[in-house]
Amino acid sequence: MSDSEVHISLQAFGYGSSRKKIGLILLQSFELQVPIRECHQETLLRRYLLQKMNFIPENSILNHLTLLPLAHFYTLIWSLCVYMYAGIGITAGSHRLWAHRAYKAKLPMRALLASMQSAAFQNDIYDWSRDHRVHHKYSETDADPHNAKRGFFFSHVGWLLVRKHPDVTAKGKLLDTNDLLNDPVVHFQRKYYALSVVVFCFAIPTLVPYIFWNENLWNAYFLAGVLRYCCGLNATWLVNSAAHMWGYRPYDKRINPAENICVSLGSMGEGFHNYHHTFPQDYATSEYGWRINLTTFFIDFMAFLGQAYDRKTIDRDTIRRRRDRTGTHT
Ligand SMILES: [Zn+2]
Ligand SMILES: [Zn+2]
Repeated sequence: MSDSEVHISLQAFGYGSSRKKIGLILLQSFELQVPIRECHQETLLRRYLLQKMNFIPENSILNHLTLLPLAHFYTLIWSLCVYMYAGIGITAGSHRLWAHRAYKAKLPMRALLASMQSAAFQNDIYDWSRDHRVHHKYSETDADPHNAKRGFFFSHVGWLLVRKHPDVTAKGKLLDTNDLLNDPVVHFQRKYYALSVVVFCFAIPTLVPYIFWNENLWNAYFLAGVLRYCCGLNATWLVNSAAHMWGYRPYDKRINPAENICVSLGSMGEGFHNYHHTFPQDYATSEYGWRINLTTFFIDFMAFLGQAYDRKTIDRDTIRRRRDRTGTHT
């Protein structure tokens, strides 16, 4: 590799002149003979170097973040769109519609929500909704699948890495889930769940940038597929962990779920968790409408189109009386 080629590669990686010498040594020590001309090769080389240097583990979120400066701007916008698409599948779909029955939706909207829920790849609608009903009914006991009293890590992701506590299975069987099984959309999605995940979570997010603006497949797959998926998972998990630990408790100070604005930002409105555990039947999961609550905006927009209806809310007086009786008054 000539010096001029090295110079080109270092500029492409964003190294300043002060780091040029370090970059040269690295390139030589790995004996790379890759002509650095195209974005695809730059991507591979950058990942290779960072992994060899042990800066970041392979397949970590950090590893995928290194691709951000190399991606087409449209790919970044697309990744954000897929993040919201999949996220709303969880929040408006498996959470507020199917788990809580906080509103009703016509068949086209339910079919759309099922595809969005598959894009999030967080178990199918039936399993997700059943686990969530158990979470509300037996919150912070051994029967709660992600019991926050077992610590941040367990409630965040640990509960998915170990066997369920026997109480979770036992109490889960006592719940009536016939309404879920009787919904043909839930039944269909459960039957073809693996295929729907491949299509909506990975194939479409990867192929759209590749086909429409000539993004290379590595960037498209790792950014709109894997990185976006990892961020979506953590946004949902933070509702179970952070929003069960940190924040205000204006509605019921006797429970751990709290109002956490940061969680609401990432989860599109699911961080008003003290309100939600106090009034789980409210379709907005908050008394403040669209404020930091993209999901409520989406449901209202679908209602405007005639697709969502029977949205359940809590009247102001009931909320005020509950705040006076059990809230923190701060
Ligand atoms: Zn809930
Ligand atoms: Zn909760």
